Amino acid sequence: MTLRLGVDLGGTNARAAVVERATGRIVGSARETWTDRTPEAVIAGTAKLVTALAKEHQVGPGPVGVGFAGMLRGPVVVNAPNLGWRDVDFGGPLSAALGRDVTLVNDLSAAAWGEYSAGCAKGARDTFTVFVGTGVGSAIISNGALLSGASHVAAEFGHIKLVVESGRLCGCGQRGCLEAYVGGAKLAQWMKEEKIEGTAVDLETLAGRVEEKKAKTLYDYATSNLALAIANQVTVLNPAVLVLGGGVLSRCPGMVQRIRDTVAARSTVASSSALRIELASLGDDSGLVGAALLT
Ligand SMILES: [Zn+2]
Repeated sequence: MTLRLGVDLGGTNARAAVVERATGRIVGSARETWTDRTPEAVIAGTAKLVTALAKEHQVGPGPVGVGFAGMLRGPVVVNAPNLGWRDVDFGGPLSAALGRDVTLVNDLSAAAWGEYSAGCAKGARDTFTVFVGTGVGSAIISNGALLSGASHVAAEFGHIKLVVESGRLCGCGQRGCLEAYVGGAKLAQWMKEEKIEGTAVDLETLAGRVEEKKAKTLYDYATSNLALAIANQVTVLNPAVLVLGGGVLSRCPGMVQRIRDTVAARSTVASSSALRIELASLGDDSGLVGAALLT
């Protein structure tokens, strides 16, 4: 049994796992919660977690895949808002601390790879993955390879613009981004401004009530724009599988249905004729499994 090591590293904690290469099955896992978010502490904590797990499961020498919630350029973290990092060399020092090569990828790329290798998109060569949770993330797998782009920041789907000028402010610093309307954190903020009580996940239920006119307006705006943007991407990419996931989408069946209907109606017939639309089947583990299997 060949084993691989993977890490899913976020702003509040890291999960590490030993994964069976052939099946994507998680053989063992462990978690570390950050009390100190400095790069030194996170590197030391991650190295300790992986080293203990590798020893416990007798994983031989070999690389570690890390899915990271942030914008990356090779081993360098360009921007990680959740950790408050900018321009941090993370991959180099982590590799030195572990005595193993480190493959560092964006968390959505890891999740897309997990679903492609061992989840709902297994067997496909071309996939488009969209996760809507706190933010909006995506990844593109084209002919069996992750699309990275000239500066390694391809597929930043959450930051395509919905409006020509102005628009709501996004976490990236620009205005009018899809994420500024649909991402769970920004949607909750918008709801608060409109005096609608609840979280982004509650909005779908609220929008179904006759008396909640404002909730319906926000929900329709967010959902129809998300669905149309995805339908347009299907036209551009011609994927075999559209993978949908994340904390908001996985809990909002109405949103998923709207995406299905809009893709059917608005993508070109040629681009969507062979398309399957699937919910991510590995749940919270897609990024963890994908990071391990990317090595
Ligand atoms: Zn943005």
